Amino acid sequence: MSESLFADASKRLEKALAYVPISEDTLKRLKYPKASLTVSIPVRMDDGSLSIFQGYRVRYDDTRGPGKGGVRYHPSVSLDEVQSLAFWMTFKSALLNLPFGGAKGGITVNPKQLSKQELERLSRGYIEAIADFIGPDVDILAPDVYTNEMIMGWMMDHYSIITRRISPAVVTGKPITMGGSQGRTSATAMGAYYAISAILPKFSQLPAQTTVAIQGFGNVGAILAELLAKVGYKVVAVSDSQGGIYAEHGLDIPSVRQYKNAGGSMKAVYCDKSVCNIVEHRLITNAELLALDVDVLIPAALENQITEANANDIQAKFIFEVANGPINSAADQILEKKGIHVFPDILINAGGVTVSYFEWVQNRSGLYWNLTEVNERLKGKMAEETERTWKISQEFGVSMRTAAYIHALNRLGEALDAKGTRDYYVNQL
Ligand code: NAD
Repeated sequence: MSESLFADASKRLEKALAYVPISEDTLKRLKYPKASLTVSIPVRMDDGSLSIFQGYRVRYDDTRGPGKGGVRYHPSVSLDEVQSLAFWMTFKSALLNLPFGGAKGGITVNPKQLSKQELERLSRGYIEAIADFIGPDVDILAPDVYTNEMIMGWMMDHYSIITRRISPAVVTGKPITMGGSQGRTSATAMGAYYAISAILPKFSQLPAQTTVAIQGFGNVGAILAELLAKVGYKVVAVSDSQGGIYAEHGLDIPSVRQYKNAGGSMKAVYCDKSVCNIVEHRLITNAELLALDVDVLIPAALENQITEANANDIQAKFIFEVANGPINSAADQILEKKGIHVFPDILINAGGVTVSYFEWVQNRSGLYWNLTEVNERLKGKMAEETERTWKISQEFGVSMRTAAYIHALNRLGEALDAKGTRDYYVNQL
């Protein structure tokens, strides 16, 4: 096997270690996931046949609190990918100072090929298989690529059936009527928006003078495109798995969303009721989108989109990683040499886990917040941790990615030490 995603992900940790006085025991602990579960999920298909799907749940670390992480449905899901995502979640929770560890789950499936009933049976089957591994105080689920609040609702319901008690706090990103939080669907995009709004003024980059290209027009990418366009950024290109569209003077994002949500492909179409007009734009591939001459590039789809194979083609000045792991470590070095500012996933997309935390708190207290309260709290957290990470990057003269790992490692190291590493005991005696 070529170098695994996980081996590449771990390299980020090693770079930060030069700046953090961390004990050997702590480092050893952080190199391995705490627990990994692989399950086979039998699903009765609509035609009466039986299909078996592979599912995974990895709890990487729970020193700072229960495991926390999304569930992904995608044909390329593997144990290596889930483990890498769980590793990133560990650092993300620590970076945002949430009382959670890191976990992740996934099923190897193309959900677009399943009926809604098959999808429900698969989601309930997954919970059946992992029920003993999760729980509100153990490991908490959330949505990720190709999973949504409907699926989270089924999962929470099924866990409650198995445990014979209503357990809303075991799954976040649920429908509001089942204990979901206001603002969870938009949380990741909103968090990225708050971080971008805090960072770009440091470079005197004003919205009206900033062109933006976004790869991935899903839950996060589409909402973020709309938030940015609303305050004056010129979103000139967006894409999905089939390809993208480009318009030099900017796209009307609400129209693109409306057309896409109605089951259409990526098109710059302005619809007023049943009357639709196509607006001048050109079709581009995902590779072309990544190489556009724009100010800001936002990968919001999958991992490994920018590697040593295409890093030299990138022309953007700033990259905000909304997807998890869109840039590999070899590409990181090339981008750094080119003077491109990269803002890392564990900071930029942390709005999702932050509002998941708010949802968990609301479920456990039984007191629910309104949208303004949720967004105010989210803004506060994102602004605070973005600023702290920025200061670390300035102090040590390191990239924002290394600064984010330094910041998270300090918190993780303290928690692991407090549980009793060799250094901790030596220093206490
Ligand atoms: P989603 O399923 O809603 O959207 C994914 C989008 O990516 C879709 O538009 C899809 O067509 C597109 N896509 C898939 N393969 C592609 C390819 N090869 N090239 C271009 N586009 C492609 O998923 P999402 O929830 O928006 O998640 C997107 C990214 O954000 C993922 O990396 C996810 O891990 C990360 N993320 C999501 C959340 C969350 O709360 N949903 C939180 C943190 C991080």
